[in-house]
Parts: sequence; C-alpha cells; structure tokens
Amino acid sequence: MTKKIAVLLGDGIGPEIVAEAMKVLEALRAFGFKFEAEHAPIGGAGYDAAGDPLPEATLKLAKQADAVLLGAVGGPKYDTLPRDKRPERGLLRIRKELKLFANLRPALLYPQLAAASSLKPEVVSGLDIMIVRELTGDIYFGQPRGIEIRDGERVGFNTMVYSESEVRRVAHVAFGIAMKRRKQLCSVEKANVLECSELWKEIVIEVGRDYPEVALSHMYVDNAAMQLVRAPKQFDVIVTGNIFGDILSDEASMLTGSIGMLPSASLDADNKGMYEPIHGSAPDIAGKGIANPLATILSVAMLLRYTLQEAALAERIEAAVQKVLAQGYRTGDIYTEGTRKVGTVAMGDAVVAALRQ
Ligand code: NAD
Repeated sequence: MTKKIAVLLGDGIGPEIVAEAMKVLEALRAFGFKFEAEHAPIGGAGYDAAGDPLPEATLKLAKQADAVLLGAVGGPKYDTLPRDKRPERGLLRIRKELKLFANLRPALLYPQLAAASSLKPEVVSGLDIMIVRELTGDIYFGQPRGIEIRDGERVGFNTMVYSESEVRRVAHVAFGIAMKRRKQLCSVEKANVLECSELWKEIVIEVGRDYPEVALSHMYVDNAAMQLVRAPKQFDVIVTGNIFGDILSDEASMLTGSIGMLPSASLDADNKGMYEPIHGSAPDIAGKGIANPLATILSVAMLLRYTLQEAALAERIEAAVQKVLAQGYRTGDIYTEGTRKVGTVAMGDAVVAALRQ
C-alpha cells in the first residue's frame, strides 16, 4: 500500500537535511517501498507563507498523512515576533494537535564515533539507550501557571500534574519498546518529594504487571542524571515525565558525541508519528552545505520502524549509515583527523550508495 508522508522542511538547515533524507526514501523504492510525499511549510516558513507558524493547510496535511517528517524550525529573523507567531510555537502546537504524547529519543553511540564523546571511550562504547519522554503533560502544560503579585512581590508558579491515564499510556509505550529490546525499563521520577511522581511510580508498577518479562526498576531523577554520566551502559529503556525527560535526553544525547547524529520520534496512541532530528535549525551553518544529515536520515529509519512497521527497511538505512561511518565519511561536526570530511549532499549520496550496495 502506498504510504503518505507529510514533509515539513522548516527553517535554517531544515530544507538541506530533509532533502538528503528524501533521497534515502526514494532509494527505498528499489526494495518495493511505495510512498508519496507532500510538502508543507512550518515554523518561520509557515509564518512567511501564511502568517502562522502552523498554517491550517499544514496541520490538515499532517493529520491526513500516515507519518510526518520534519526538519527543524526557528531562526533569528523570527525571534522578535509576538510569542504566538514564533516558529517554536508551531512545533508545540503540531505535537499537541496530533496528540503526540510519547517522545522516543535513542542515544546510540556508533563505534566509529567513540572519540567524539566527552566521556572516556570505555564508558560509552556500546551505548544504546532509548529514552521515552512523556510529551504533552507535566509542568509544561499544567494549570494554574503564571506570574502574579503576592504579599507585595512577584511570584512565578507552575503546576506539575499527571493523570493516571496519561502515565498509563506512556508506560505502555515504554514497556512495548523494552519488549523489543533488552527487556529492561527504568522509570525515572522524584517520588521521595513529589506527589505527582508518587502516582507516576504507582501506575508504572501497575502497568508493569502486563509485562512480566520486563525488568522494571525505579530511579530518582537526580540519581539518574548522575548515573547517565557515571555508568550510562546500565540503561536500556528509560521512561520519564516531560520536564525530567527534556533534561535527561539532552544529557544522554551528548554522551554520543554529536547532536547531528540523533533522531527522534513522537508518537500518538496509534503509533502514528512525527519524526525529526533532535537538533534545531542551526542558523549559524544554514545555507553552507555542511550540516550533518544523518540525524534526519536516521529519523526516516525510525519512521519506517515505529509507524510504518517496516523494520527491515529501517535496518537497511541504519546499516547504510554504519557503513558510511566505517568508510570514514564525516561532516564537520563529527570530523576527526584521518577521516574524510564531506558536506551535506555528499553524505546523503554516500548513504544512498551504501543502501544500493
Ligand atoms: P541548534 O541545535 O540549532 O544548534 C546548536 C549547535 O549545533 C550549532 O552550533 C549548530 O551549528 C550545531 N548543529 C545543529 N545541528 C547540526 C547538524 N545537523 N550538523 C552540524 N551541526 C549542527 O540549537 P540552537 O542554536 O540553540 O537553536 C537554533 C534555532 O533552532 C533556534 O531558533 C531554536 O529555537 C531552534 N530549535 C528548534 C528545534 C526544533 O526544530 N525541534 C530544536 C531546538 C532548537
């Protein structure tokens, strides 16, 4: 069956890196993969086209598509716009509108890039963690929130809140992923201090009864932050709330050396998803042809695995990426002496060539 993919290039390096990912998708036609792609603007490009960082037509396309591939949004040109017109607002809105409550961020260290990590190679080599972050709840969305005058001074406040159903659905996603991996799940919270975390832990334990094969453990977020740099290989899958996941997933991503290597998926209850690199629009290098397209190409692999149930095609892409790294191809962000420095297009071409071999 022909799959429909909504392609949202976004801003900055977005168009450059997604172009390479599309070349990889095109190359999959040789293996019988059928798809049609339709483009629509988002972020600053959406504002330029329709005065809205998430134009109505873009949202409609995203809702109709089987999956969404996104580049990145944002840029200095848009930083002075009113808050609701800013590119990042378009991103938050599309996640919310599509009900993408589970954010999957793998932190995988490719052996060839061990030297690029800020930790010692023996601490990170073989690292393969999947962080499942709840994406539509928690303190980022909780009410009441605001800044008001109390006792003659300004007070800022937010609300950390999770309902049982919100915890349950993301826990199911995390256990499901653990089942396909090494069957270890660590739930991260702060149940020693926060009631919200107490409930989180209780529900995760309850959901765990449906997955007796998965070894469930619990860790306070402060300890998890420490363990991630002390002994990161102890983790297989981590499940956590929105704010803790925001911070821990950035920390975990740096263990692997480059922000240009890491993909992400945001899924709804039916595994429909939006796929994007974890990095931003990198305005400092936009238009220079030097951005690393591998995070976006690996996002396509995740799209195939999690939404389109095409694991074999996903593995082909991941193997092709491994191959080009083994062949020594490097964009500037992952370059080390003795390797072959290439630009965005040449890196995309190398992955396509490796796919065809
Ligand atoms: P960034 O991720 O865009 O860039 C951080 C640094 O990493 C820069 O030096 C950049 O050149 C480099 N970098 C990022 N991606 C790279 C790649 N593929 N290849 C090589 N180098 C790469 O973060 P930032 O500079 O803080 O933000 C820039 C803009 O992106 C801002 O407008 C921000 O709001 C936006 N942003 C968007 C998203 C998103 O679309 N999901 C995420 C984060 C930031």
